[in-house]
Amino acid sequence: MAAAAPKDDLRARFARLIATSGPISIAHYIAESNARYYASRDPLGVTGDFTTAPEISQMFGEMVGVWLADIWQRAGGPAPVAYVELGPGRGTLARDALRVMERFGLVPQVHLVEGSPALRAVQAMLVPQAQWHDDLSTLPDDLPLLVVANEFLDALPVRQLVRTAHGWRERMVGWDGERLLPVAGDRPMDAAIPPELADLADGAIVETSPAAATVTGEIARRLAAQGGAALLIDYGHAQPRIGSTLQAVRAHAGVDPFAHPGEADLTAHVDFAALVAIVGQFGSHWLGTVTQGAWLQAMGIEQRAQALAARFPSQAEAVAAALQRLVAPDAMGDLFKVMGLAAPPWPDGAGFA
Ligand code: SAH
Repeated sequence: MAAAAPKDDLRARFARLIATSGPISIAHYIAESNARYYASRDPLGVTGDFTTAPEISQMFGEMVGVWLADIWQRAGGPAPVAYVELGPGRGTLARDALRVMERFGLVPQVHLVEGSPALRAVQAMLVPQAQWHDDLSTLPDDLPLLVVANEFLDALPVRQLVRTAHGWRERMVGWDGERLLPVAGDRPMDAAIPPELADLADGAIVETSPAAATVTGEIARRLAAQGGAALLIDYGHAQPRIGSTLQAVRAHAGVDPFAHPGEADLTAHVDFAALVAIVGQFGSHWLGTVTQGAWLQAMGIEQRAQALAARFPSQAEAVAAALQRLVAPDAMGDLFKVMGLAAPPWPDGAGFA
């Protein structure tokens, strides 16, 4: 039995579940915590828990819109075509990108994949023409797709394996009577570890994201079948690496990922190297993975910032500060990556040279 049932109900529910049937996987813990977290609130902005690139400046969504319009035009401007965004948050990126795309004569259908009823309501204010989907399975399958995901893959559950004195085990979440905490599972998992990683030292953690792989595979499969292109933007690493990247953020500060399930944003770094291999397996063309700073600069964000500052002189300082946050290497510029993919007959994308 769980000692001292905690007040917070998701924590209490996990505690009871674990006390009765044993530790749960890290992936189960993240999936349920984030579903609860996003369903119940709008977490974005200064009054929320974290701020994303489209909420920093309209320039971010505008560069995404320019990229999509450019590749679409060079692909012959097929119509009808669909704009698809995964986890659109407040809908700000969609609004800014669609406004720019319209100037290029690109007026797509709008399909938003969003699990949170609270955020769907916010998105409907900025993108009233949208149709909503719970997952990618119900997206249209008879027209090209222009897909965007910003800080979506990082919110999907990761799986972790940990090296112990007895070999590899799944990393799980246990309950010690007072707190939720990471523990090693009982079952041997050595067969799940690639041979080149098998000899890592005790305590080493290997993290994978089956959910991010599934989503990326489904995008690549659809692009190959339907035509189109996609931008996956997230914080993460372009090269494989070892260790846990699970983190929790609440009120703009890092907190213990196991302390407040459902009340803090749980994310993990996206392993872009793992996703590249999947793109090819499903028949799409990998256009490249570059840092957000380099990509935004190649797309002309500095010129856009100058134009905005000239047109709204009272905003010049705010525009310059936003530009720095988005592109500076010690802000978001290096940690965030932009990965492009496209249907094989589609042209290469701008900004990946
Ligand atoms: N792209 C937005 C929001 C990022 S926050 C921005 O850049 O501001 C993550 C978004 O993904 C939220 O909209 C959240 O509700 C959504 N989300 C997270 N997990 C999801 C899932 N499994 N299915 C559908 N949407 C999900």
